[in-house]
Amino acid sequence: MRSLGVKTDAYYERMRKVLFSTTIENYRPVIRKGDGVWFEDIDGNKFLDFTSQVGIINSGQRPEEVISAIKEQTNFTTGIISNDFQFSAVHGRGSLLGEEVSPVALAEKLIELSPVPYPKKVLFEVSGATAVSAAAKICISARRGAPYFAAFDKAFHGRHGYSLDLSSSKPVHKLLHKDGLMVARLPFPESGVTFKKFIRSVPEDCRLEVLFVEIVQGEGGINIPDLKLLNAIRRYVKEKGGLFVVDEVQTGLGRTGKLFASEYLNLPPDIIILSKALGGGLPLGAVISRSDILPKGDLPQSAHSGTMPASPLAVAASLANLKILTNPDLLKETRKLGKYMVEALLTIARMSGHILDVDNLGGLMVRVEMTSHDICEKAVQNCLFREPGLLLIGAGERTIRFMPPLTVTKEEIDLGLSIFRGALNSLA
Ligand code: PLP
Repeated sequence: MRSLGVKTDAYYERMRKVLFSTTIENYRPVIRKGDGVWFEDIDGNKFLDFTSQVGIINSGQRPEEVISAIKEQTNFTTGIISNDFQFSAVHGRGSLLGEEVSPVALAEKLIELSPVPYPKKVLFEVSGATAVSAAAKICISARRGAPYFAAFDKAFHGRHGYSLDLSSSKPVHKLLHKDGLMVARLPFPESGVTFKKFIRSVPEDCRLEVLFVEIVQGEGGINIPDLKLLNAIRRYVKEKGGLFVVDEVQTGLGRTGKLFASEYLNLPPDIIILSKALGGGLPLGAVISRSDILPKGDLPQSAHSGTMPASPLAVAASLANLKILTNPDLLKETRKLGKYMVEALLTIARMSGHILDVDNLGGLMVRVEMTSHDICEKAVQNCLFREPGLLLIGAGERTIRFMPPLTVTKEEIDLGLSIFRGALNSLA
């Protein structure tokens, strides 16, 4: 097997002794330092990161605005259990100069930004999975009992509690899990699926009371919806009085060229879930939900809580990161670069026999479907060993997701794609 260097190999040897297996199926670099779209590993190899760490760092590694806000927050508070004690400080320097940093300030910002045009409130969490699970609790409370939930085939909503009940992208994820919720599995509304087929798959007693949706499926294979059909489903759920919950953990905060992928719909969601890029690299999740669906407009007190959601450094990082990601010029550029990347990948596809499909809904969440799982794995691996290397990550059975930070330049995209082309040529 090829090696990235002696330090990497030694690290892997130690790692296998002390860390339980998670998702490290492949040999990957051990990152020492990141800078924007670039990484350097412990052996000194350089890599362009076209994964954004699966969407955690939409604004790249170590953005100055986020770092200065975190540093300034350390002058006030670091560890506060914000579900029991609120915190609030006005920053005296850094990117949030003169601004209040508090869970309330962040919730107000999210309420202002999110396209949910109803009375709404925010519930903070520490991750995507825990935010999805909390959103499921909101739905259970809204429907005054345990309703029949629905989610799409190949959905991925996380690996804890209710979120894993809703996930179905890979059977192995459920190996050590017992489902608790009743979840109807419905066909993802991609082209070729008709509204009739979709409705026929809804069990009689399900009535679409609660539907969880990723607008673009991430982990399931960067599956792009037929927007007309997804809009028809959204309308149907509304007519039935059901709840339409959009999991924007991966698609949110500019990834698809709009701040929220939900903006591609004609009708707004009832609940939006955010995480990953929300924390600017620190752990943070949020549920932005209509409050008018809940008895007395709120959750029963103490029915949900936790010690780490909305901790001070994460809140400061998030407020600073939102300044970067809500910039209309960045969103415009993301849409432009997304188009450019799709066109360039289509050109590569025409010359290579290994690519079946290239597509996106918009922005820098691009699907490259390879001819087989094996080719997909080999292409991703080959990219690692080029100089410089390119970090990519698979999705679904045989898709590679191209998701560079939104701050990537056209020149960096050209370089990344030339590395990818070289890796494909060496497969032939
Ligand atoms: N929902 C979606 C759409 C995701 O892509 C992910 C993670 O990849 C999650 C939920 C789970 O988020 P986390 O890994 O933070 O638990």
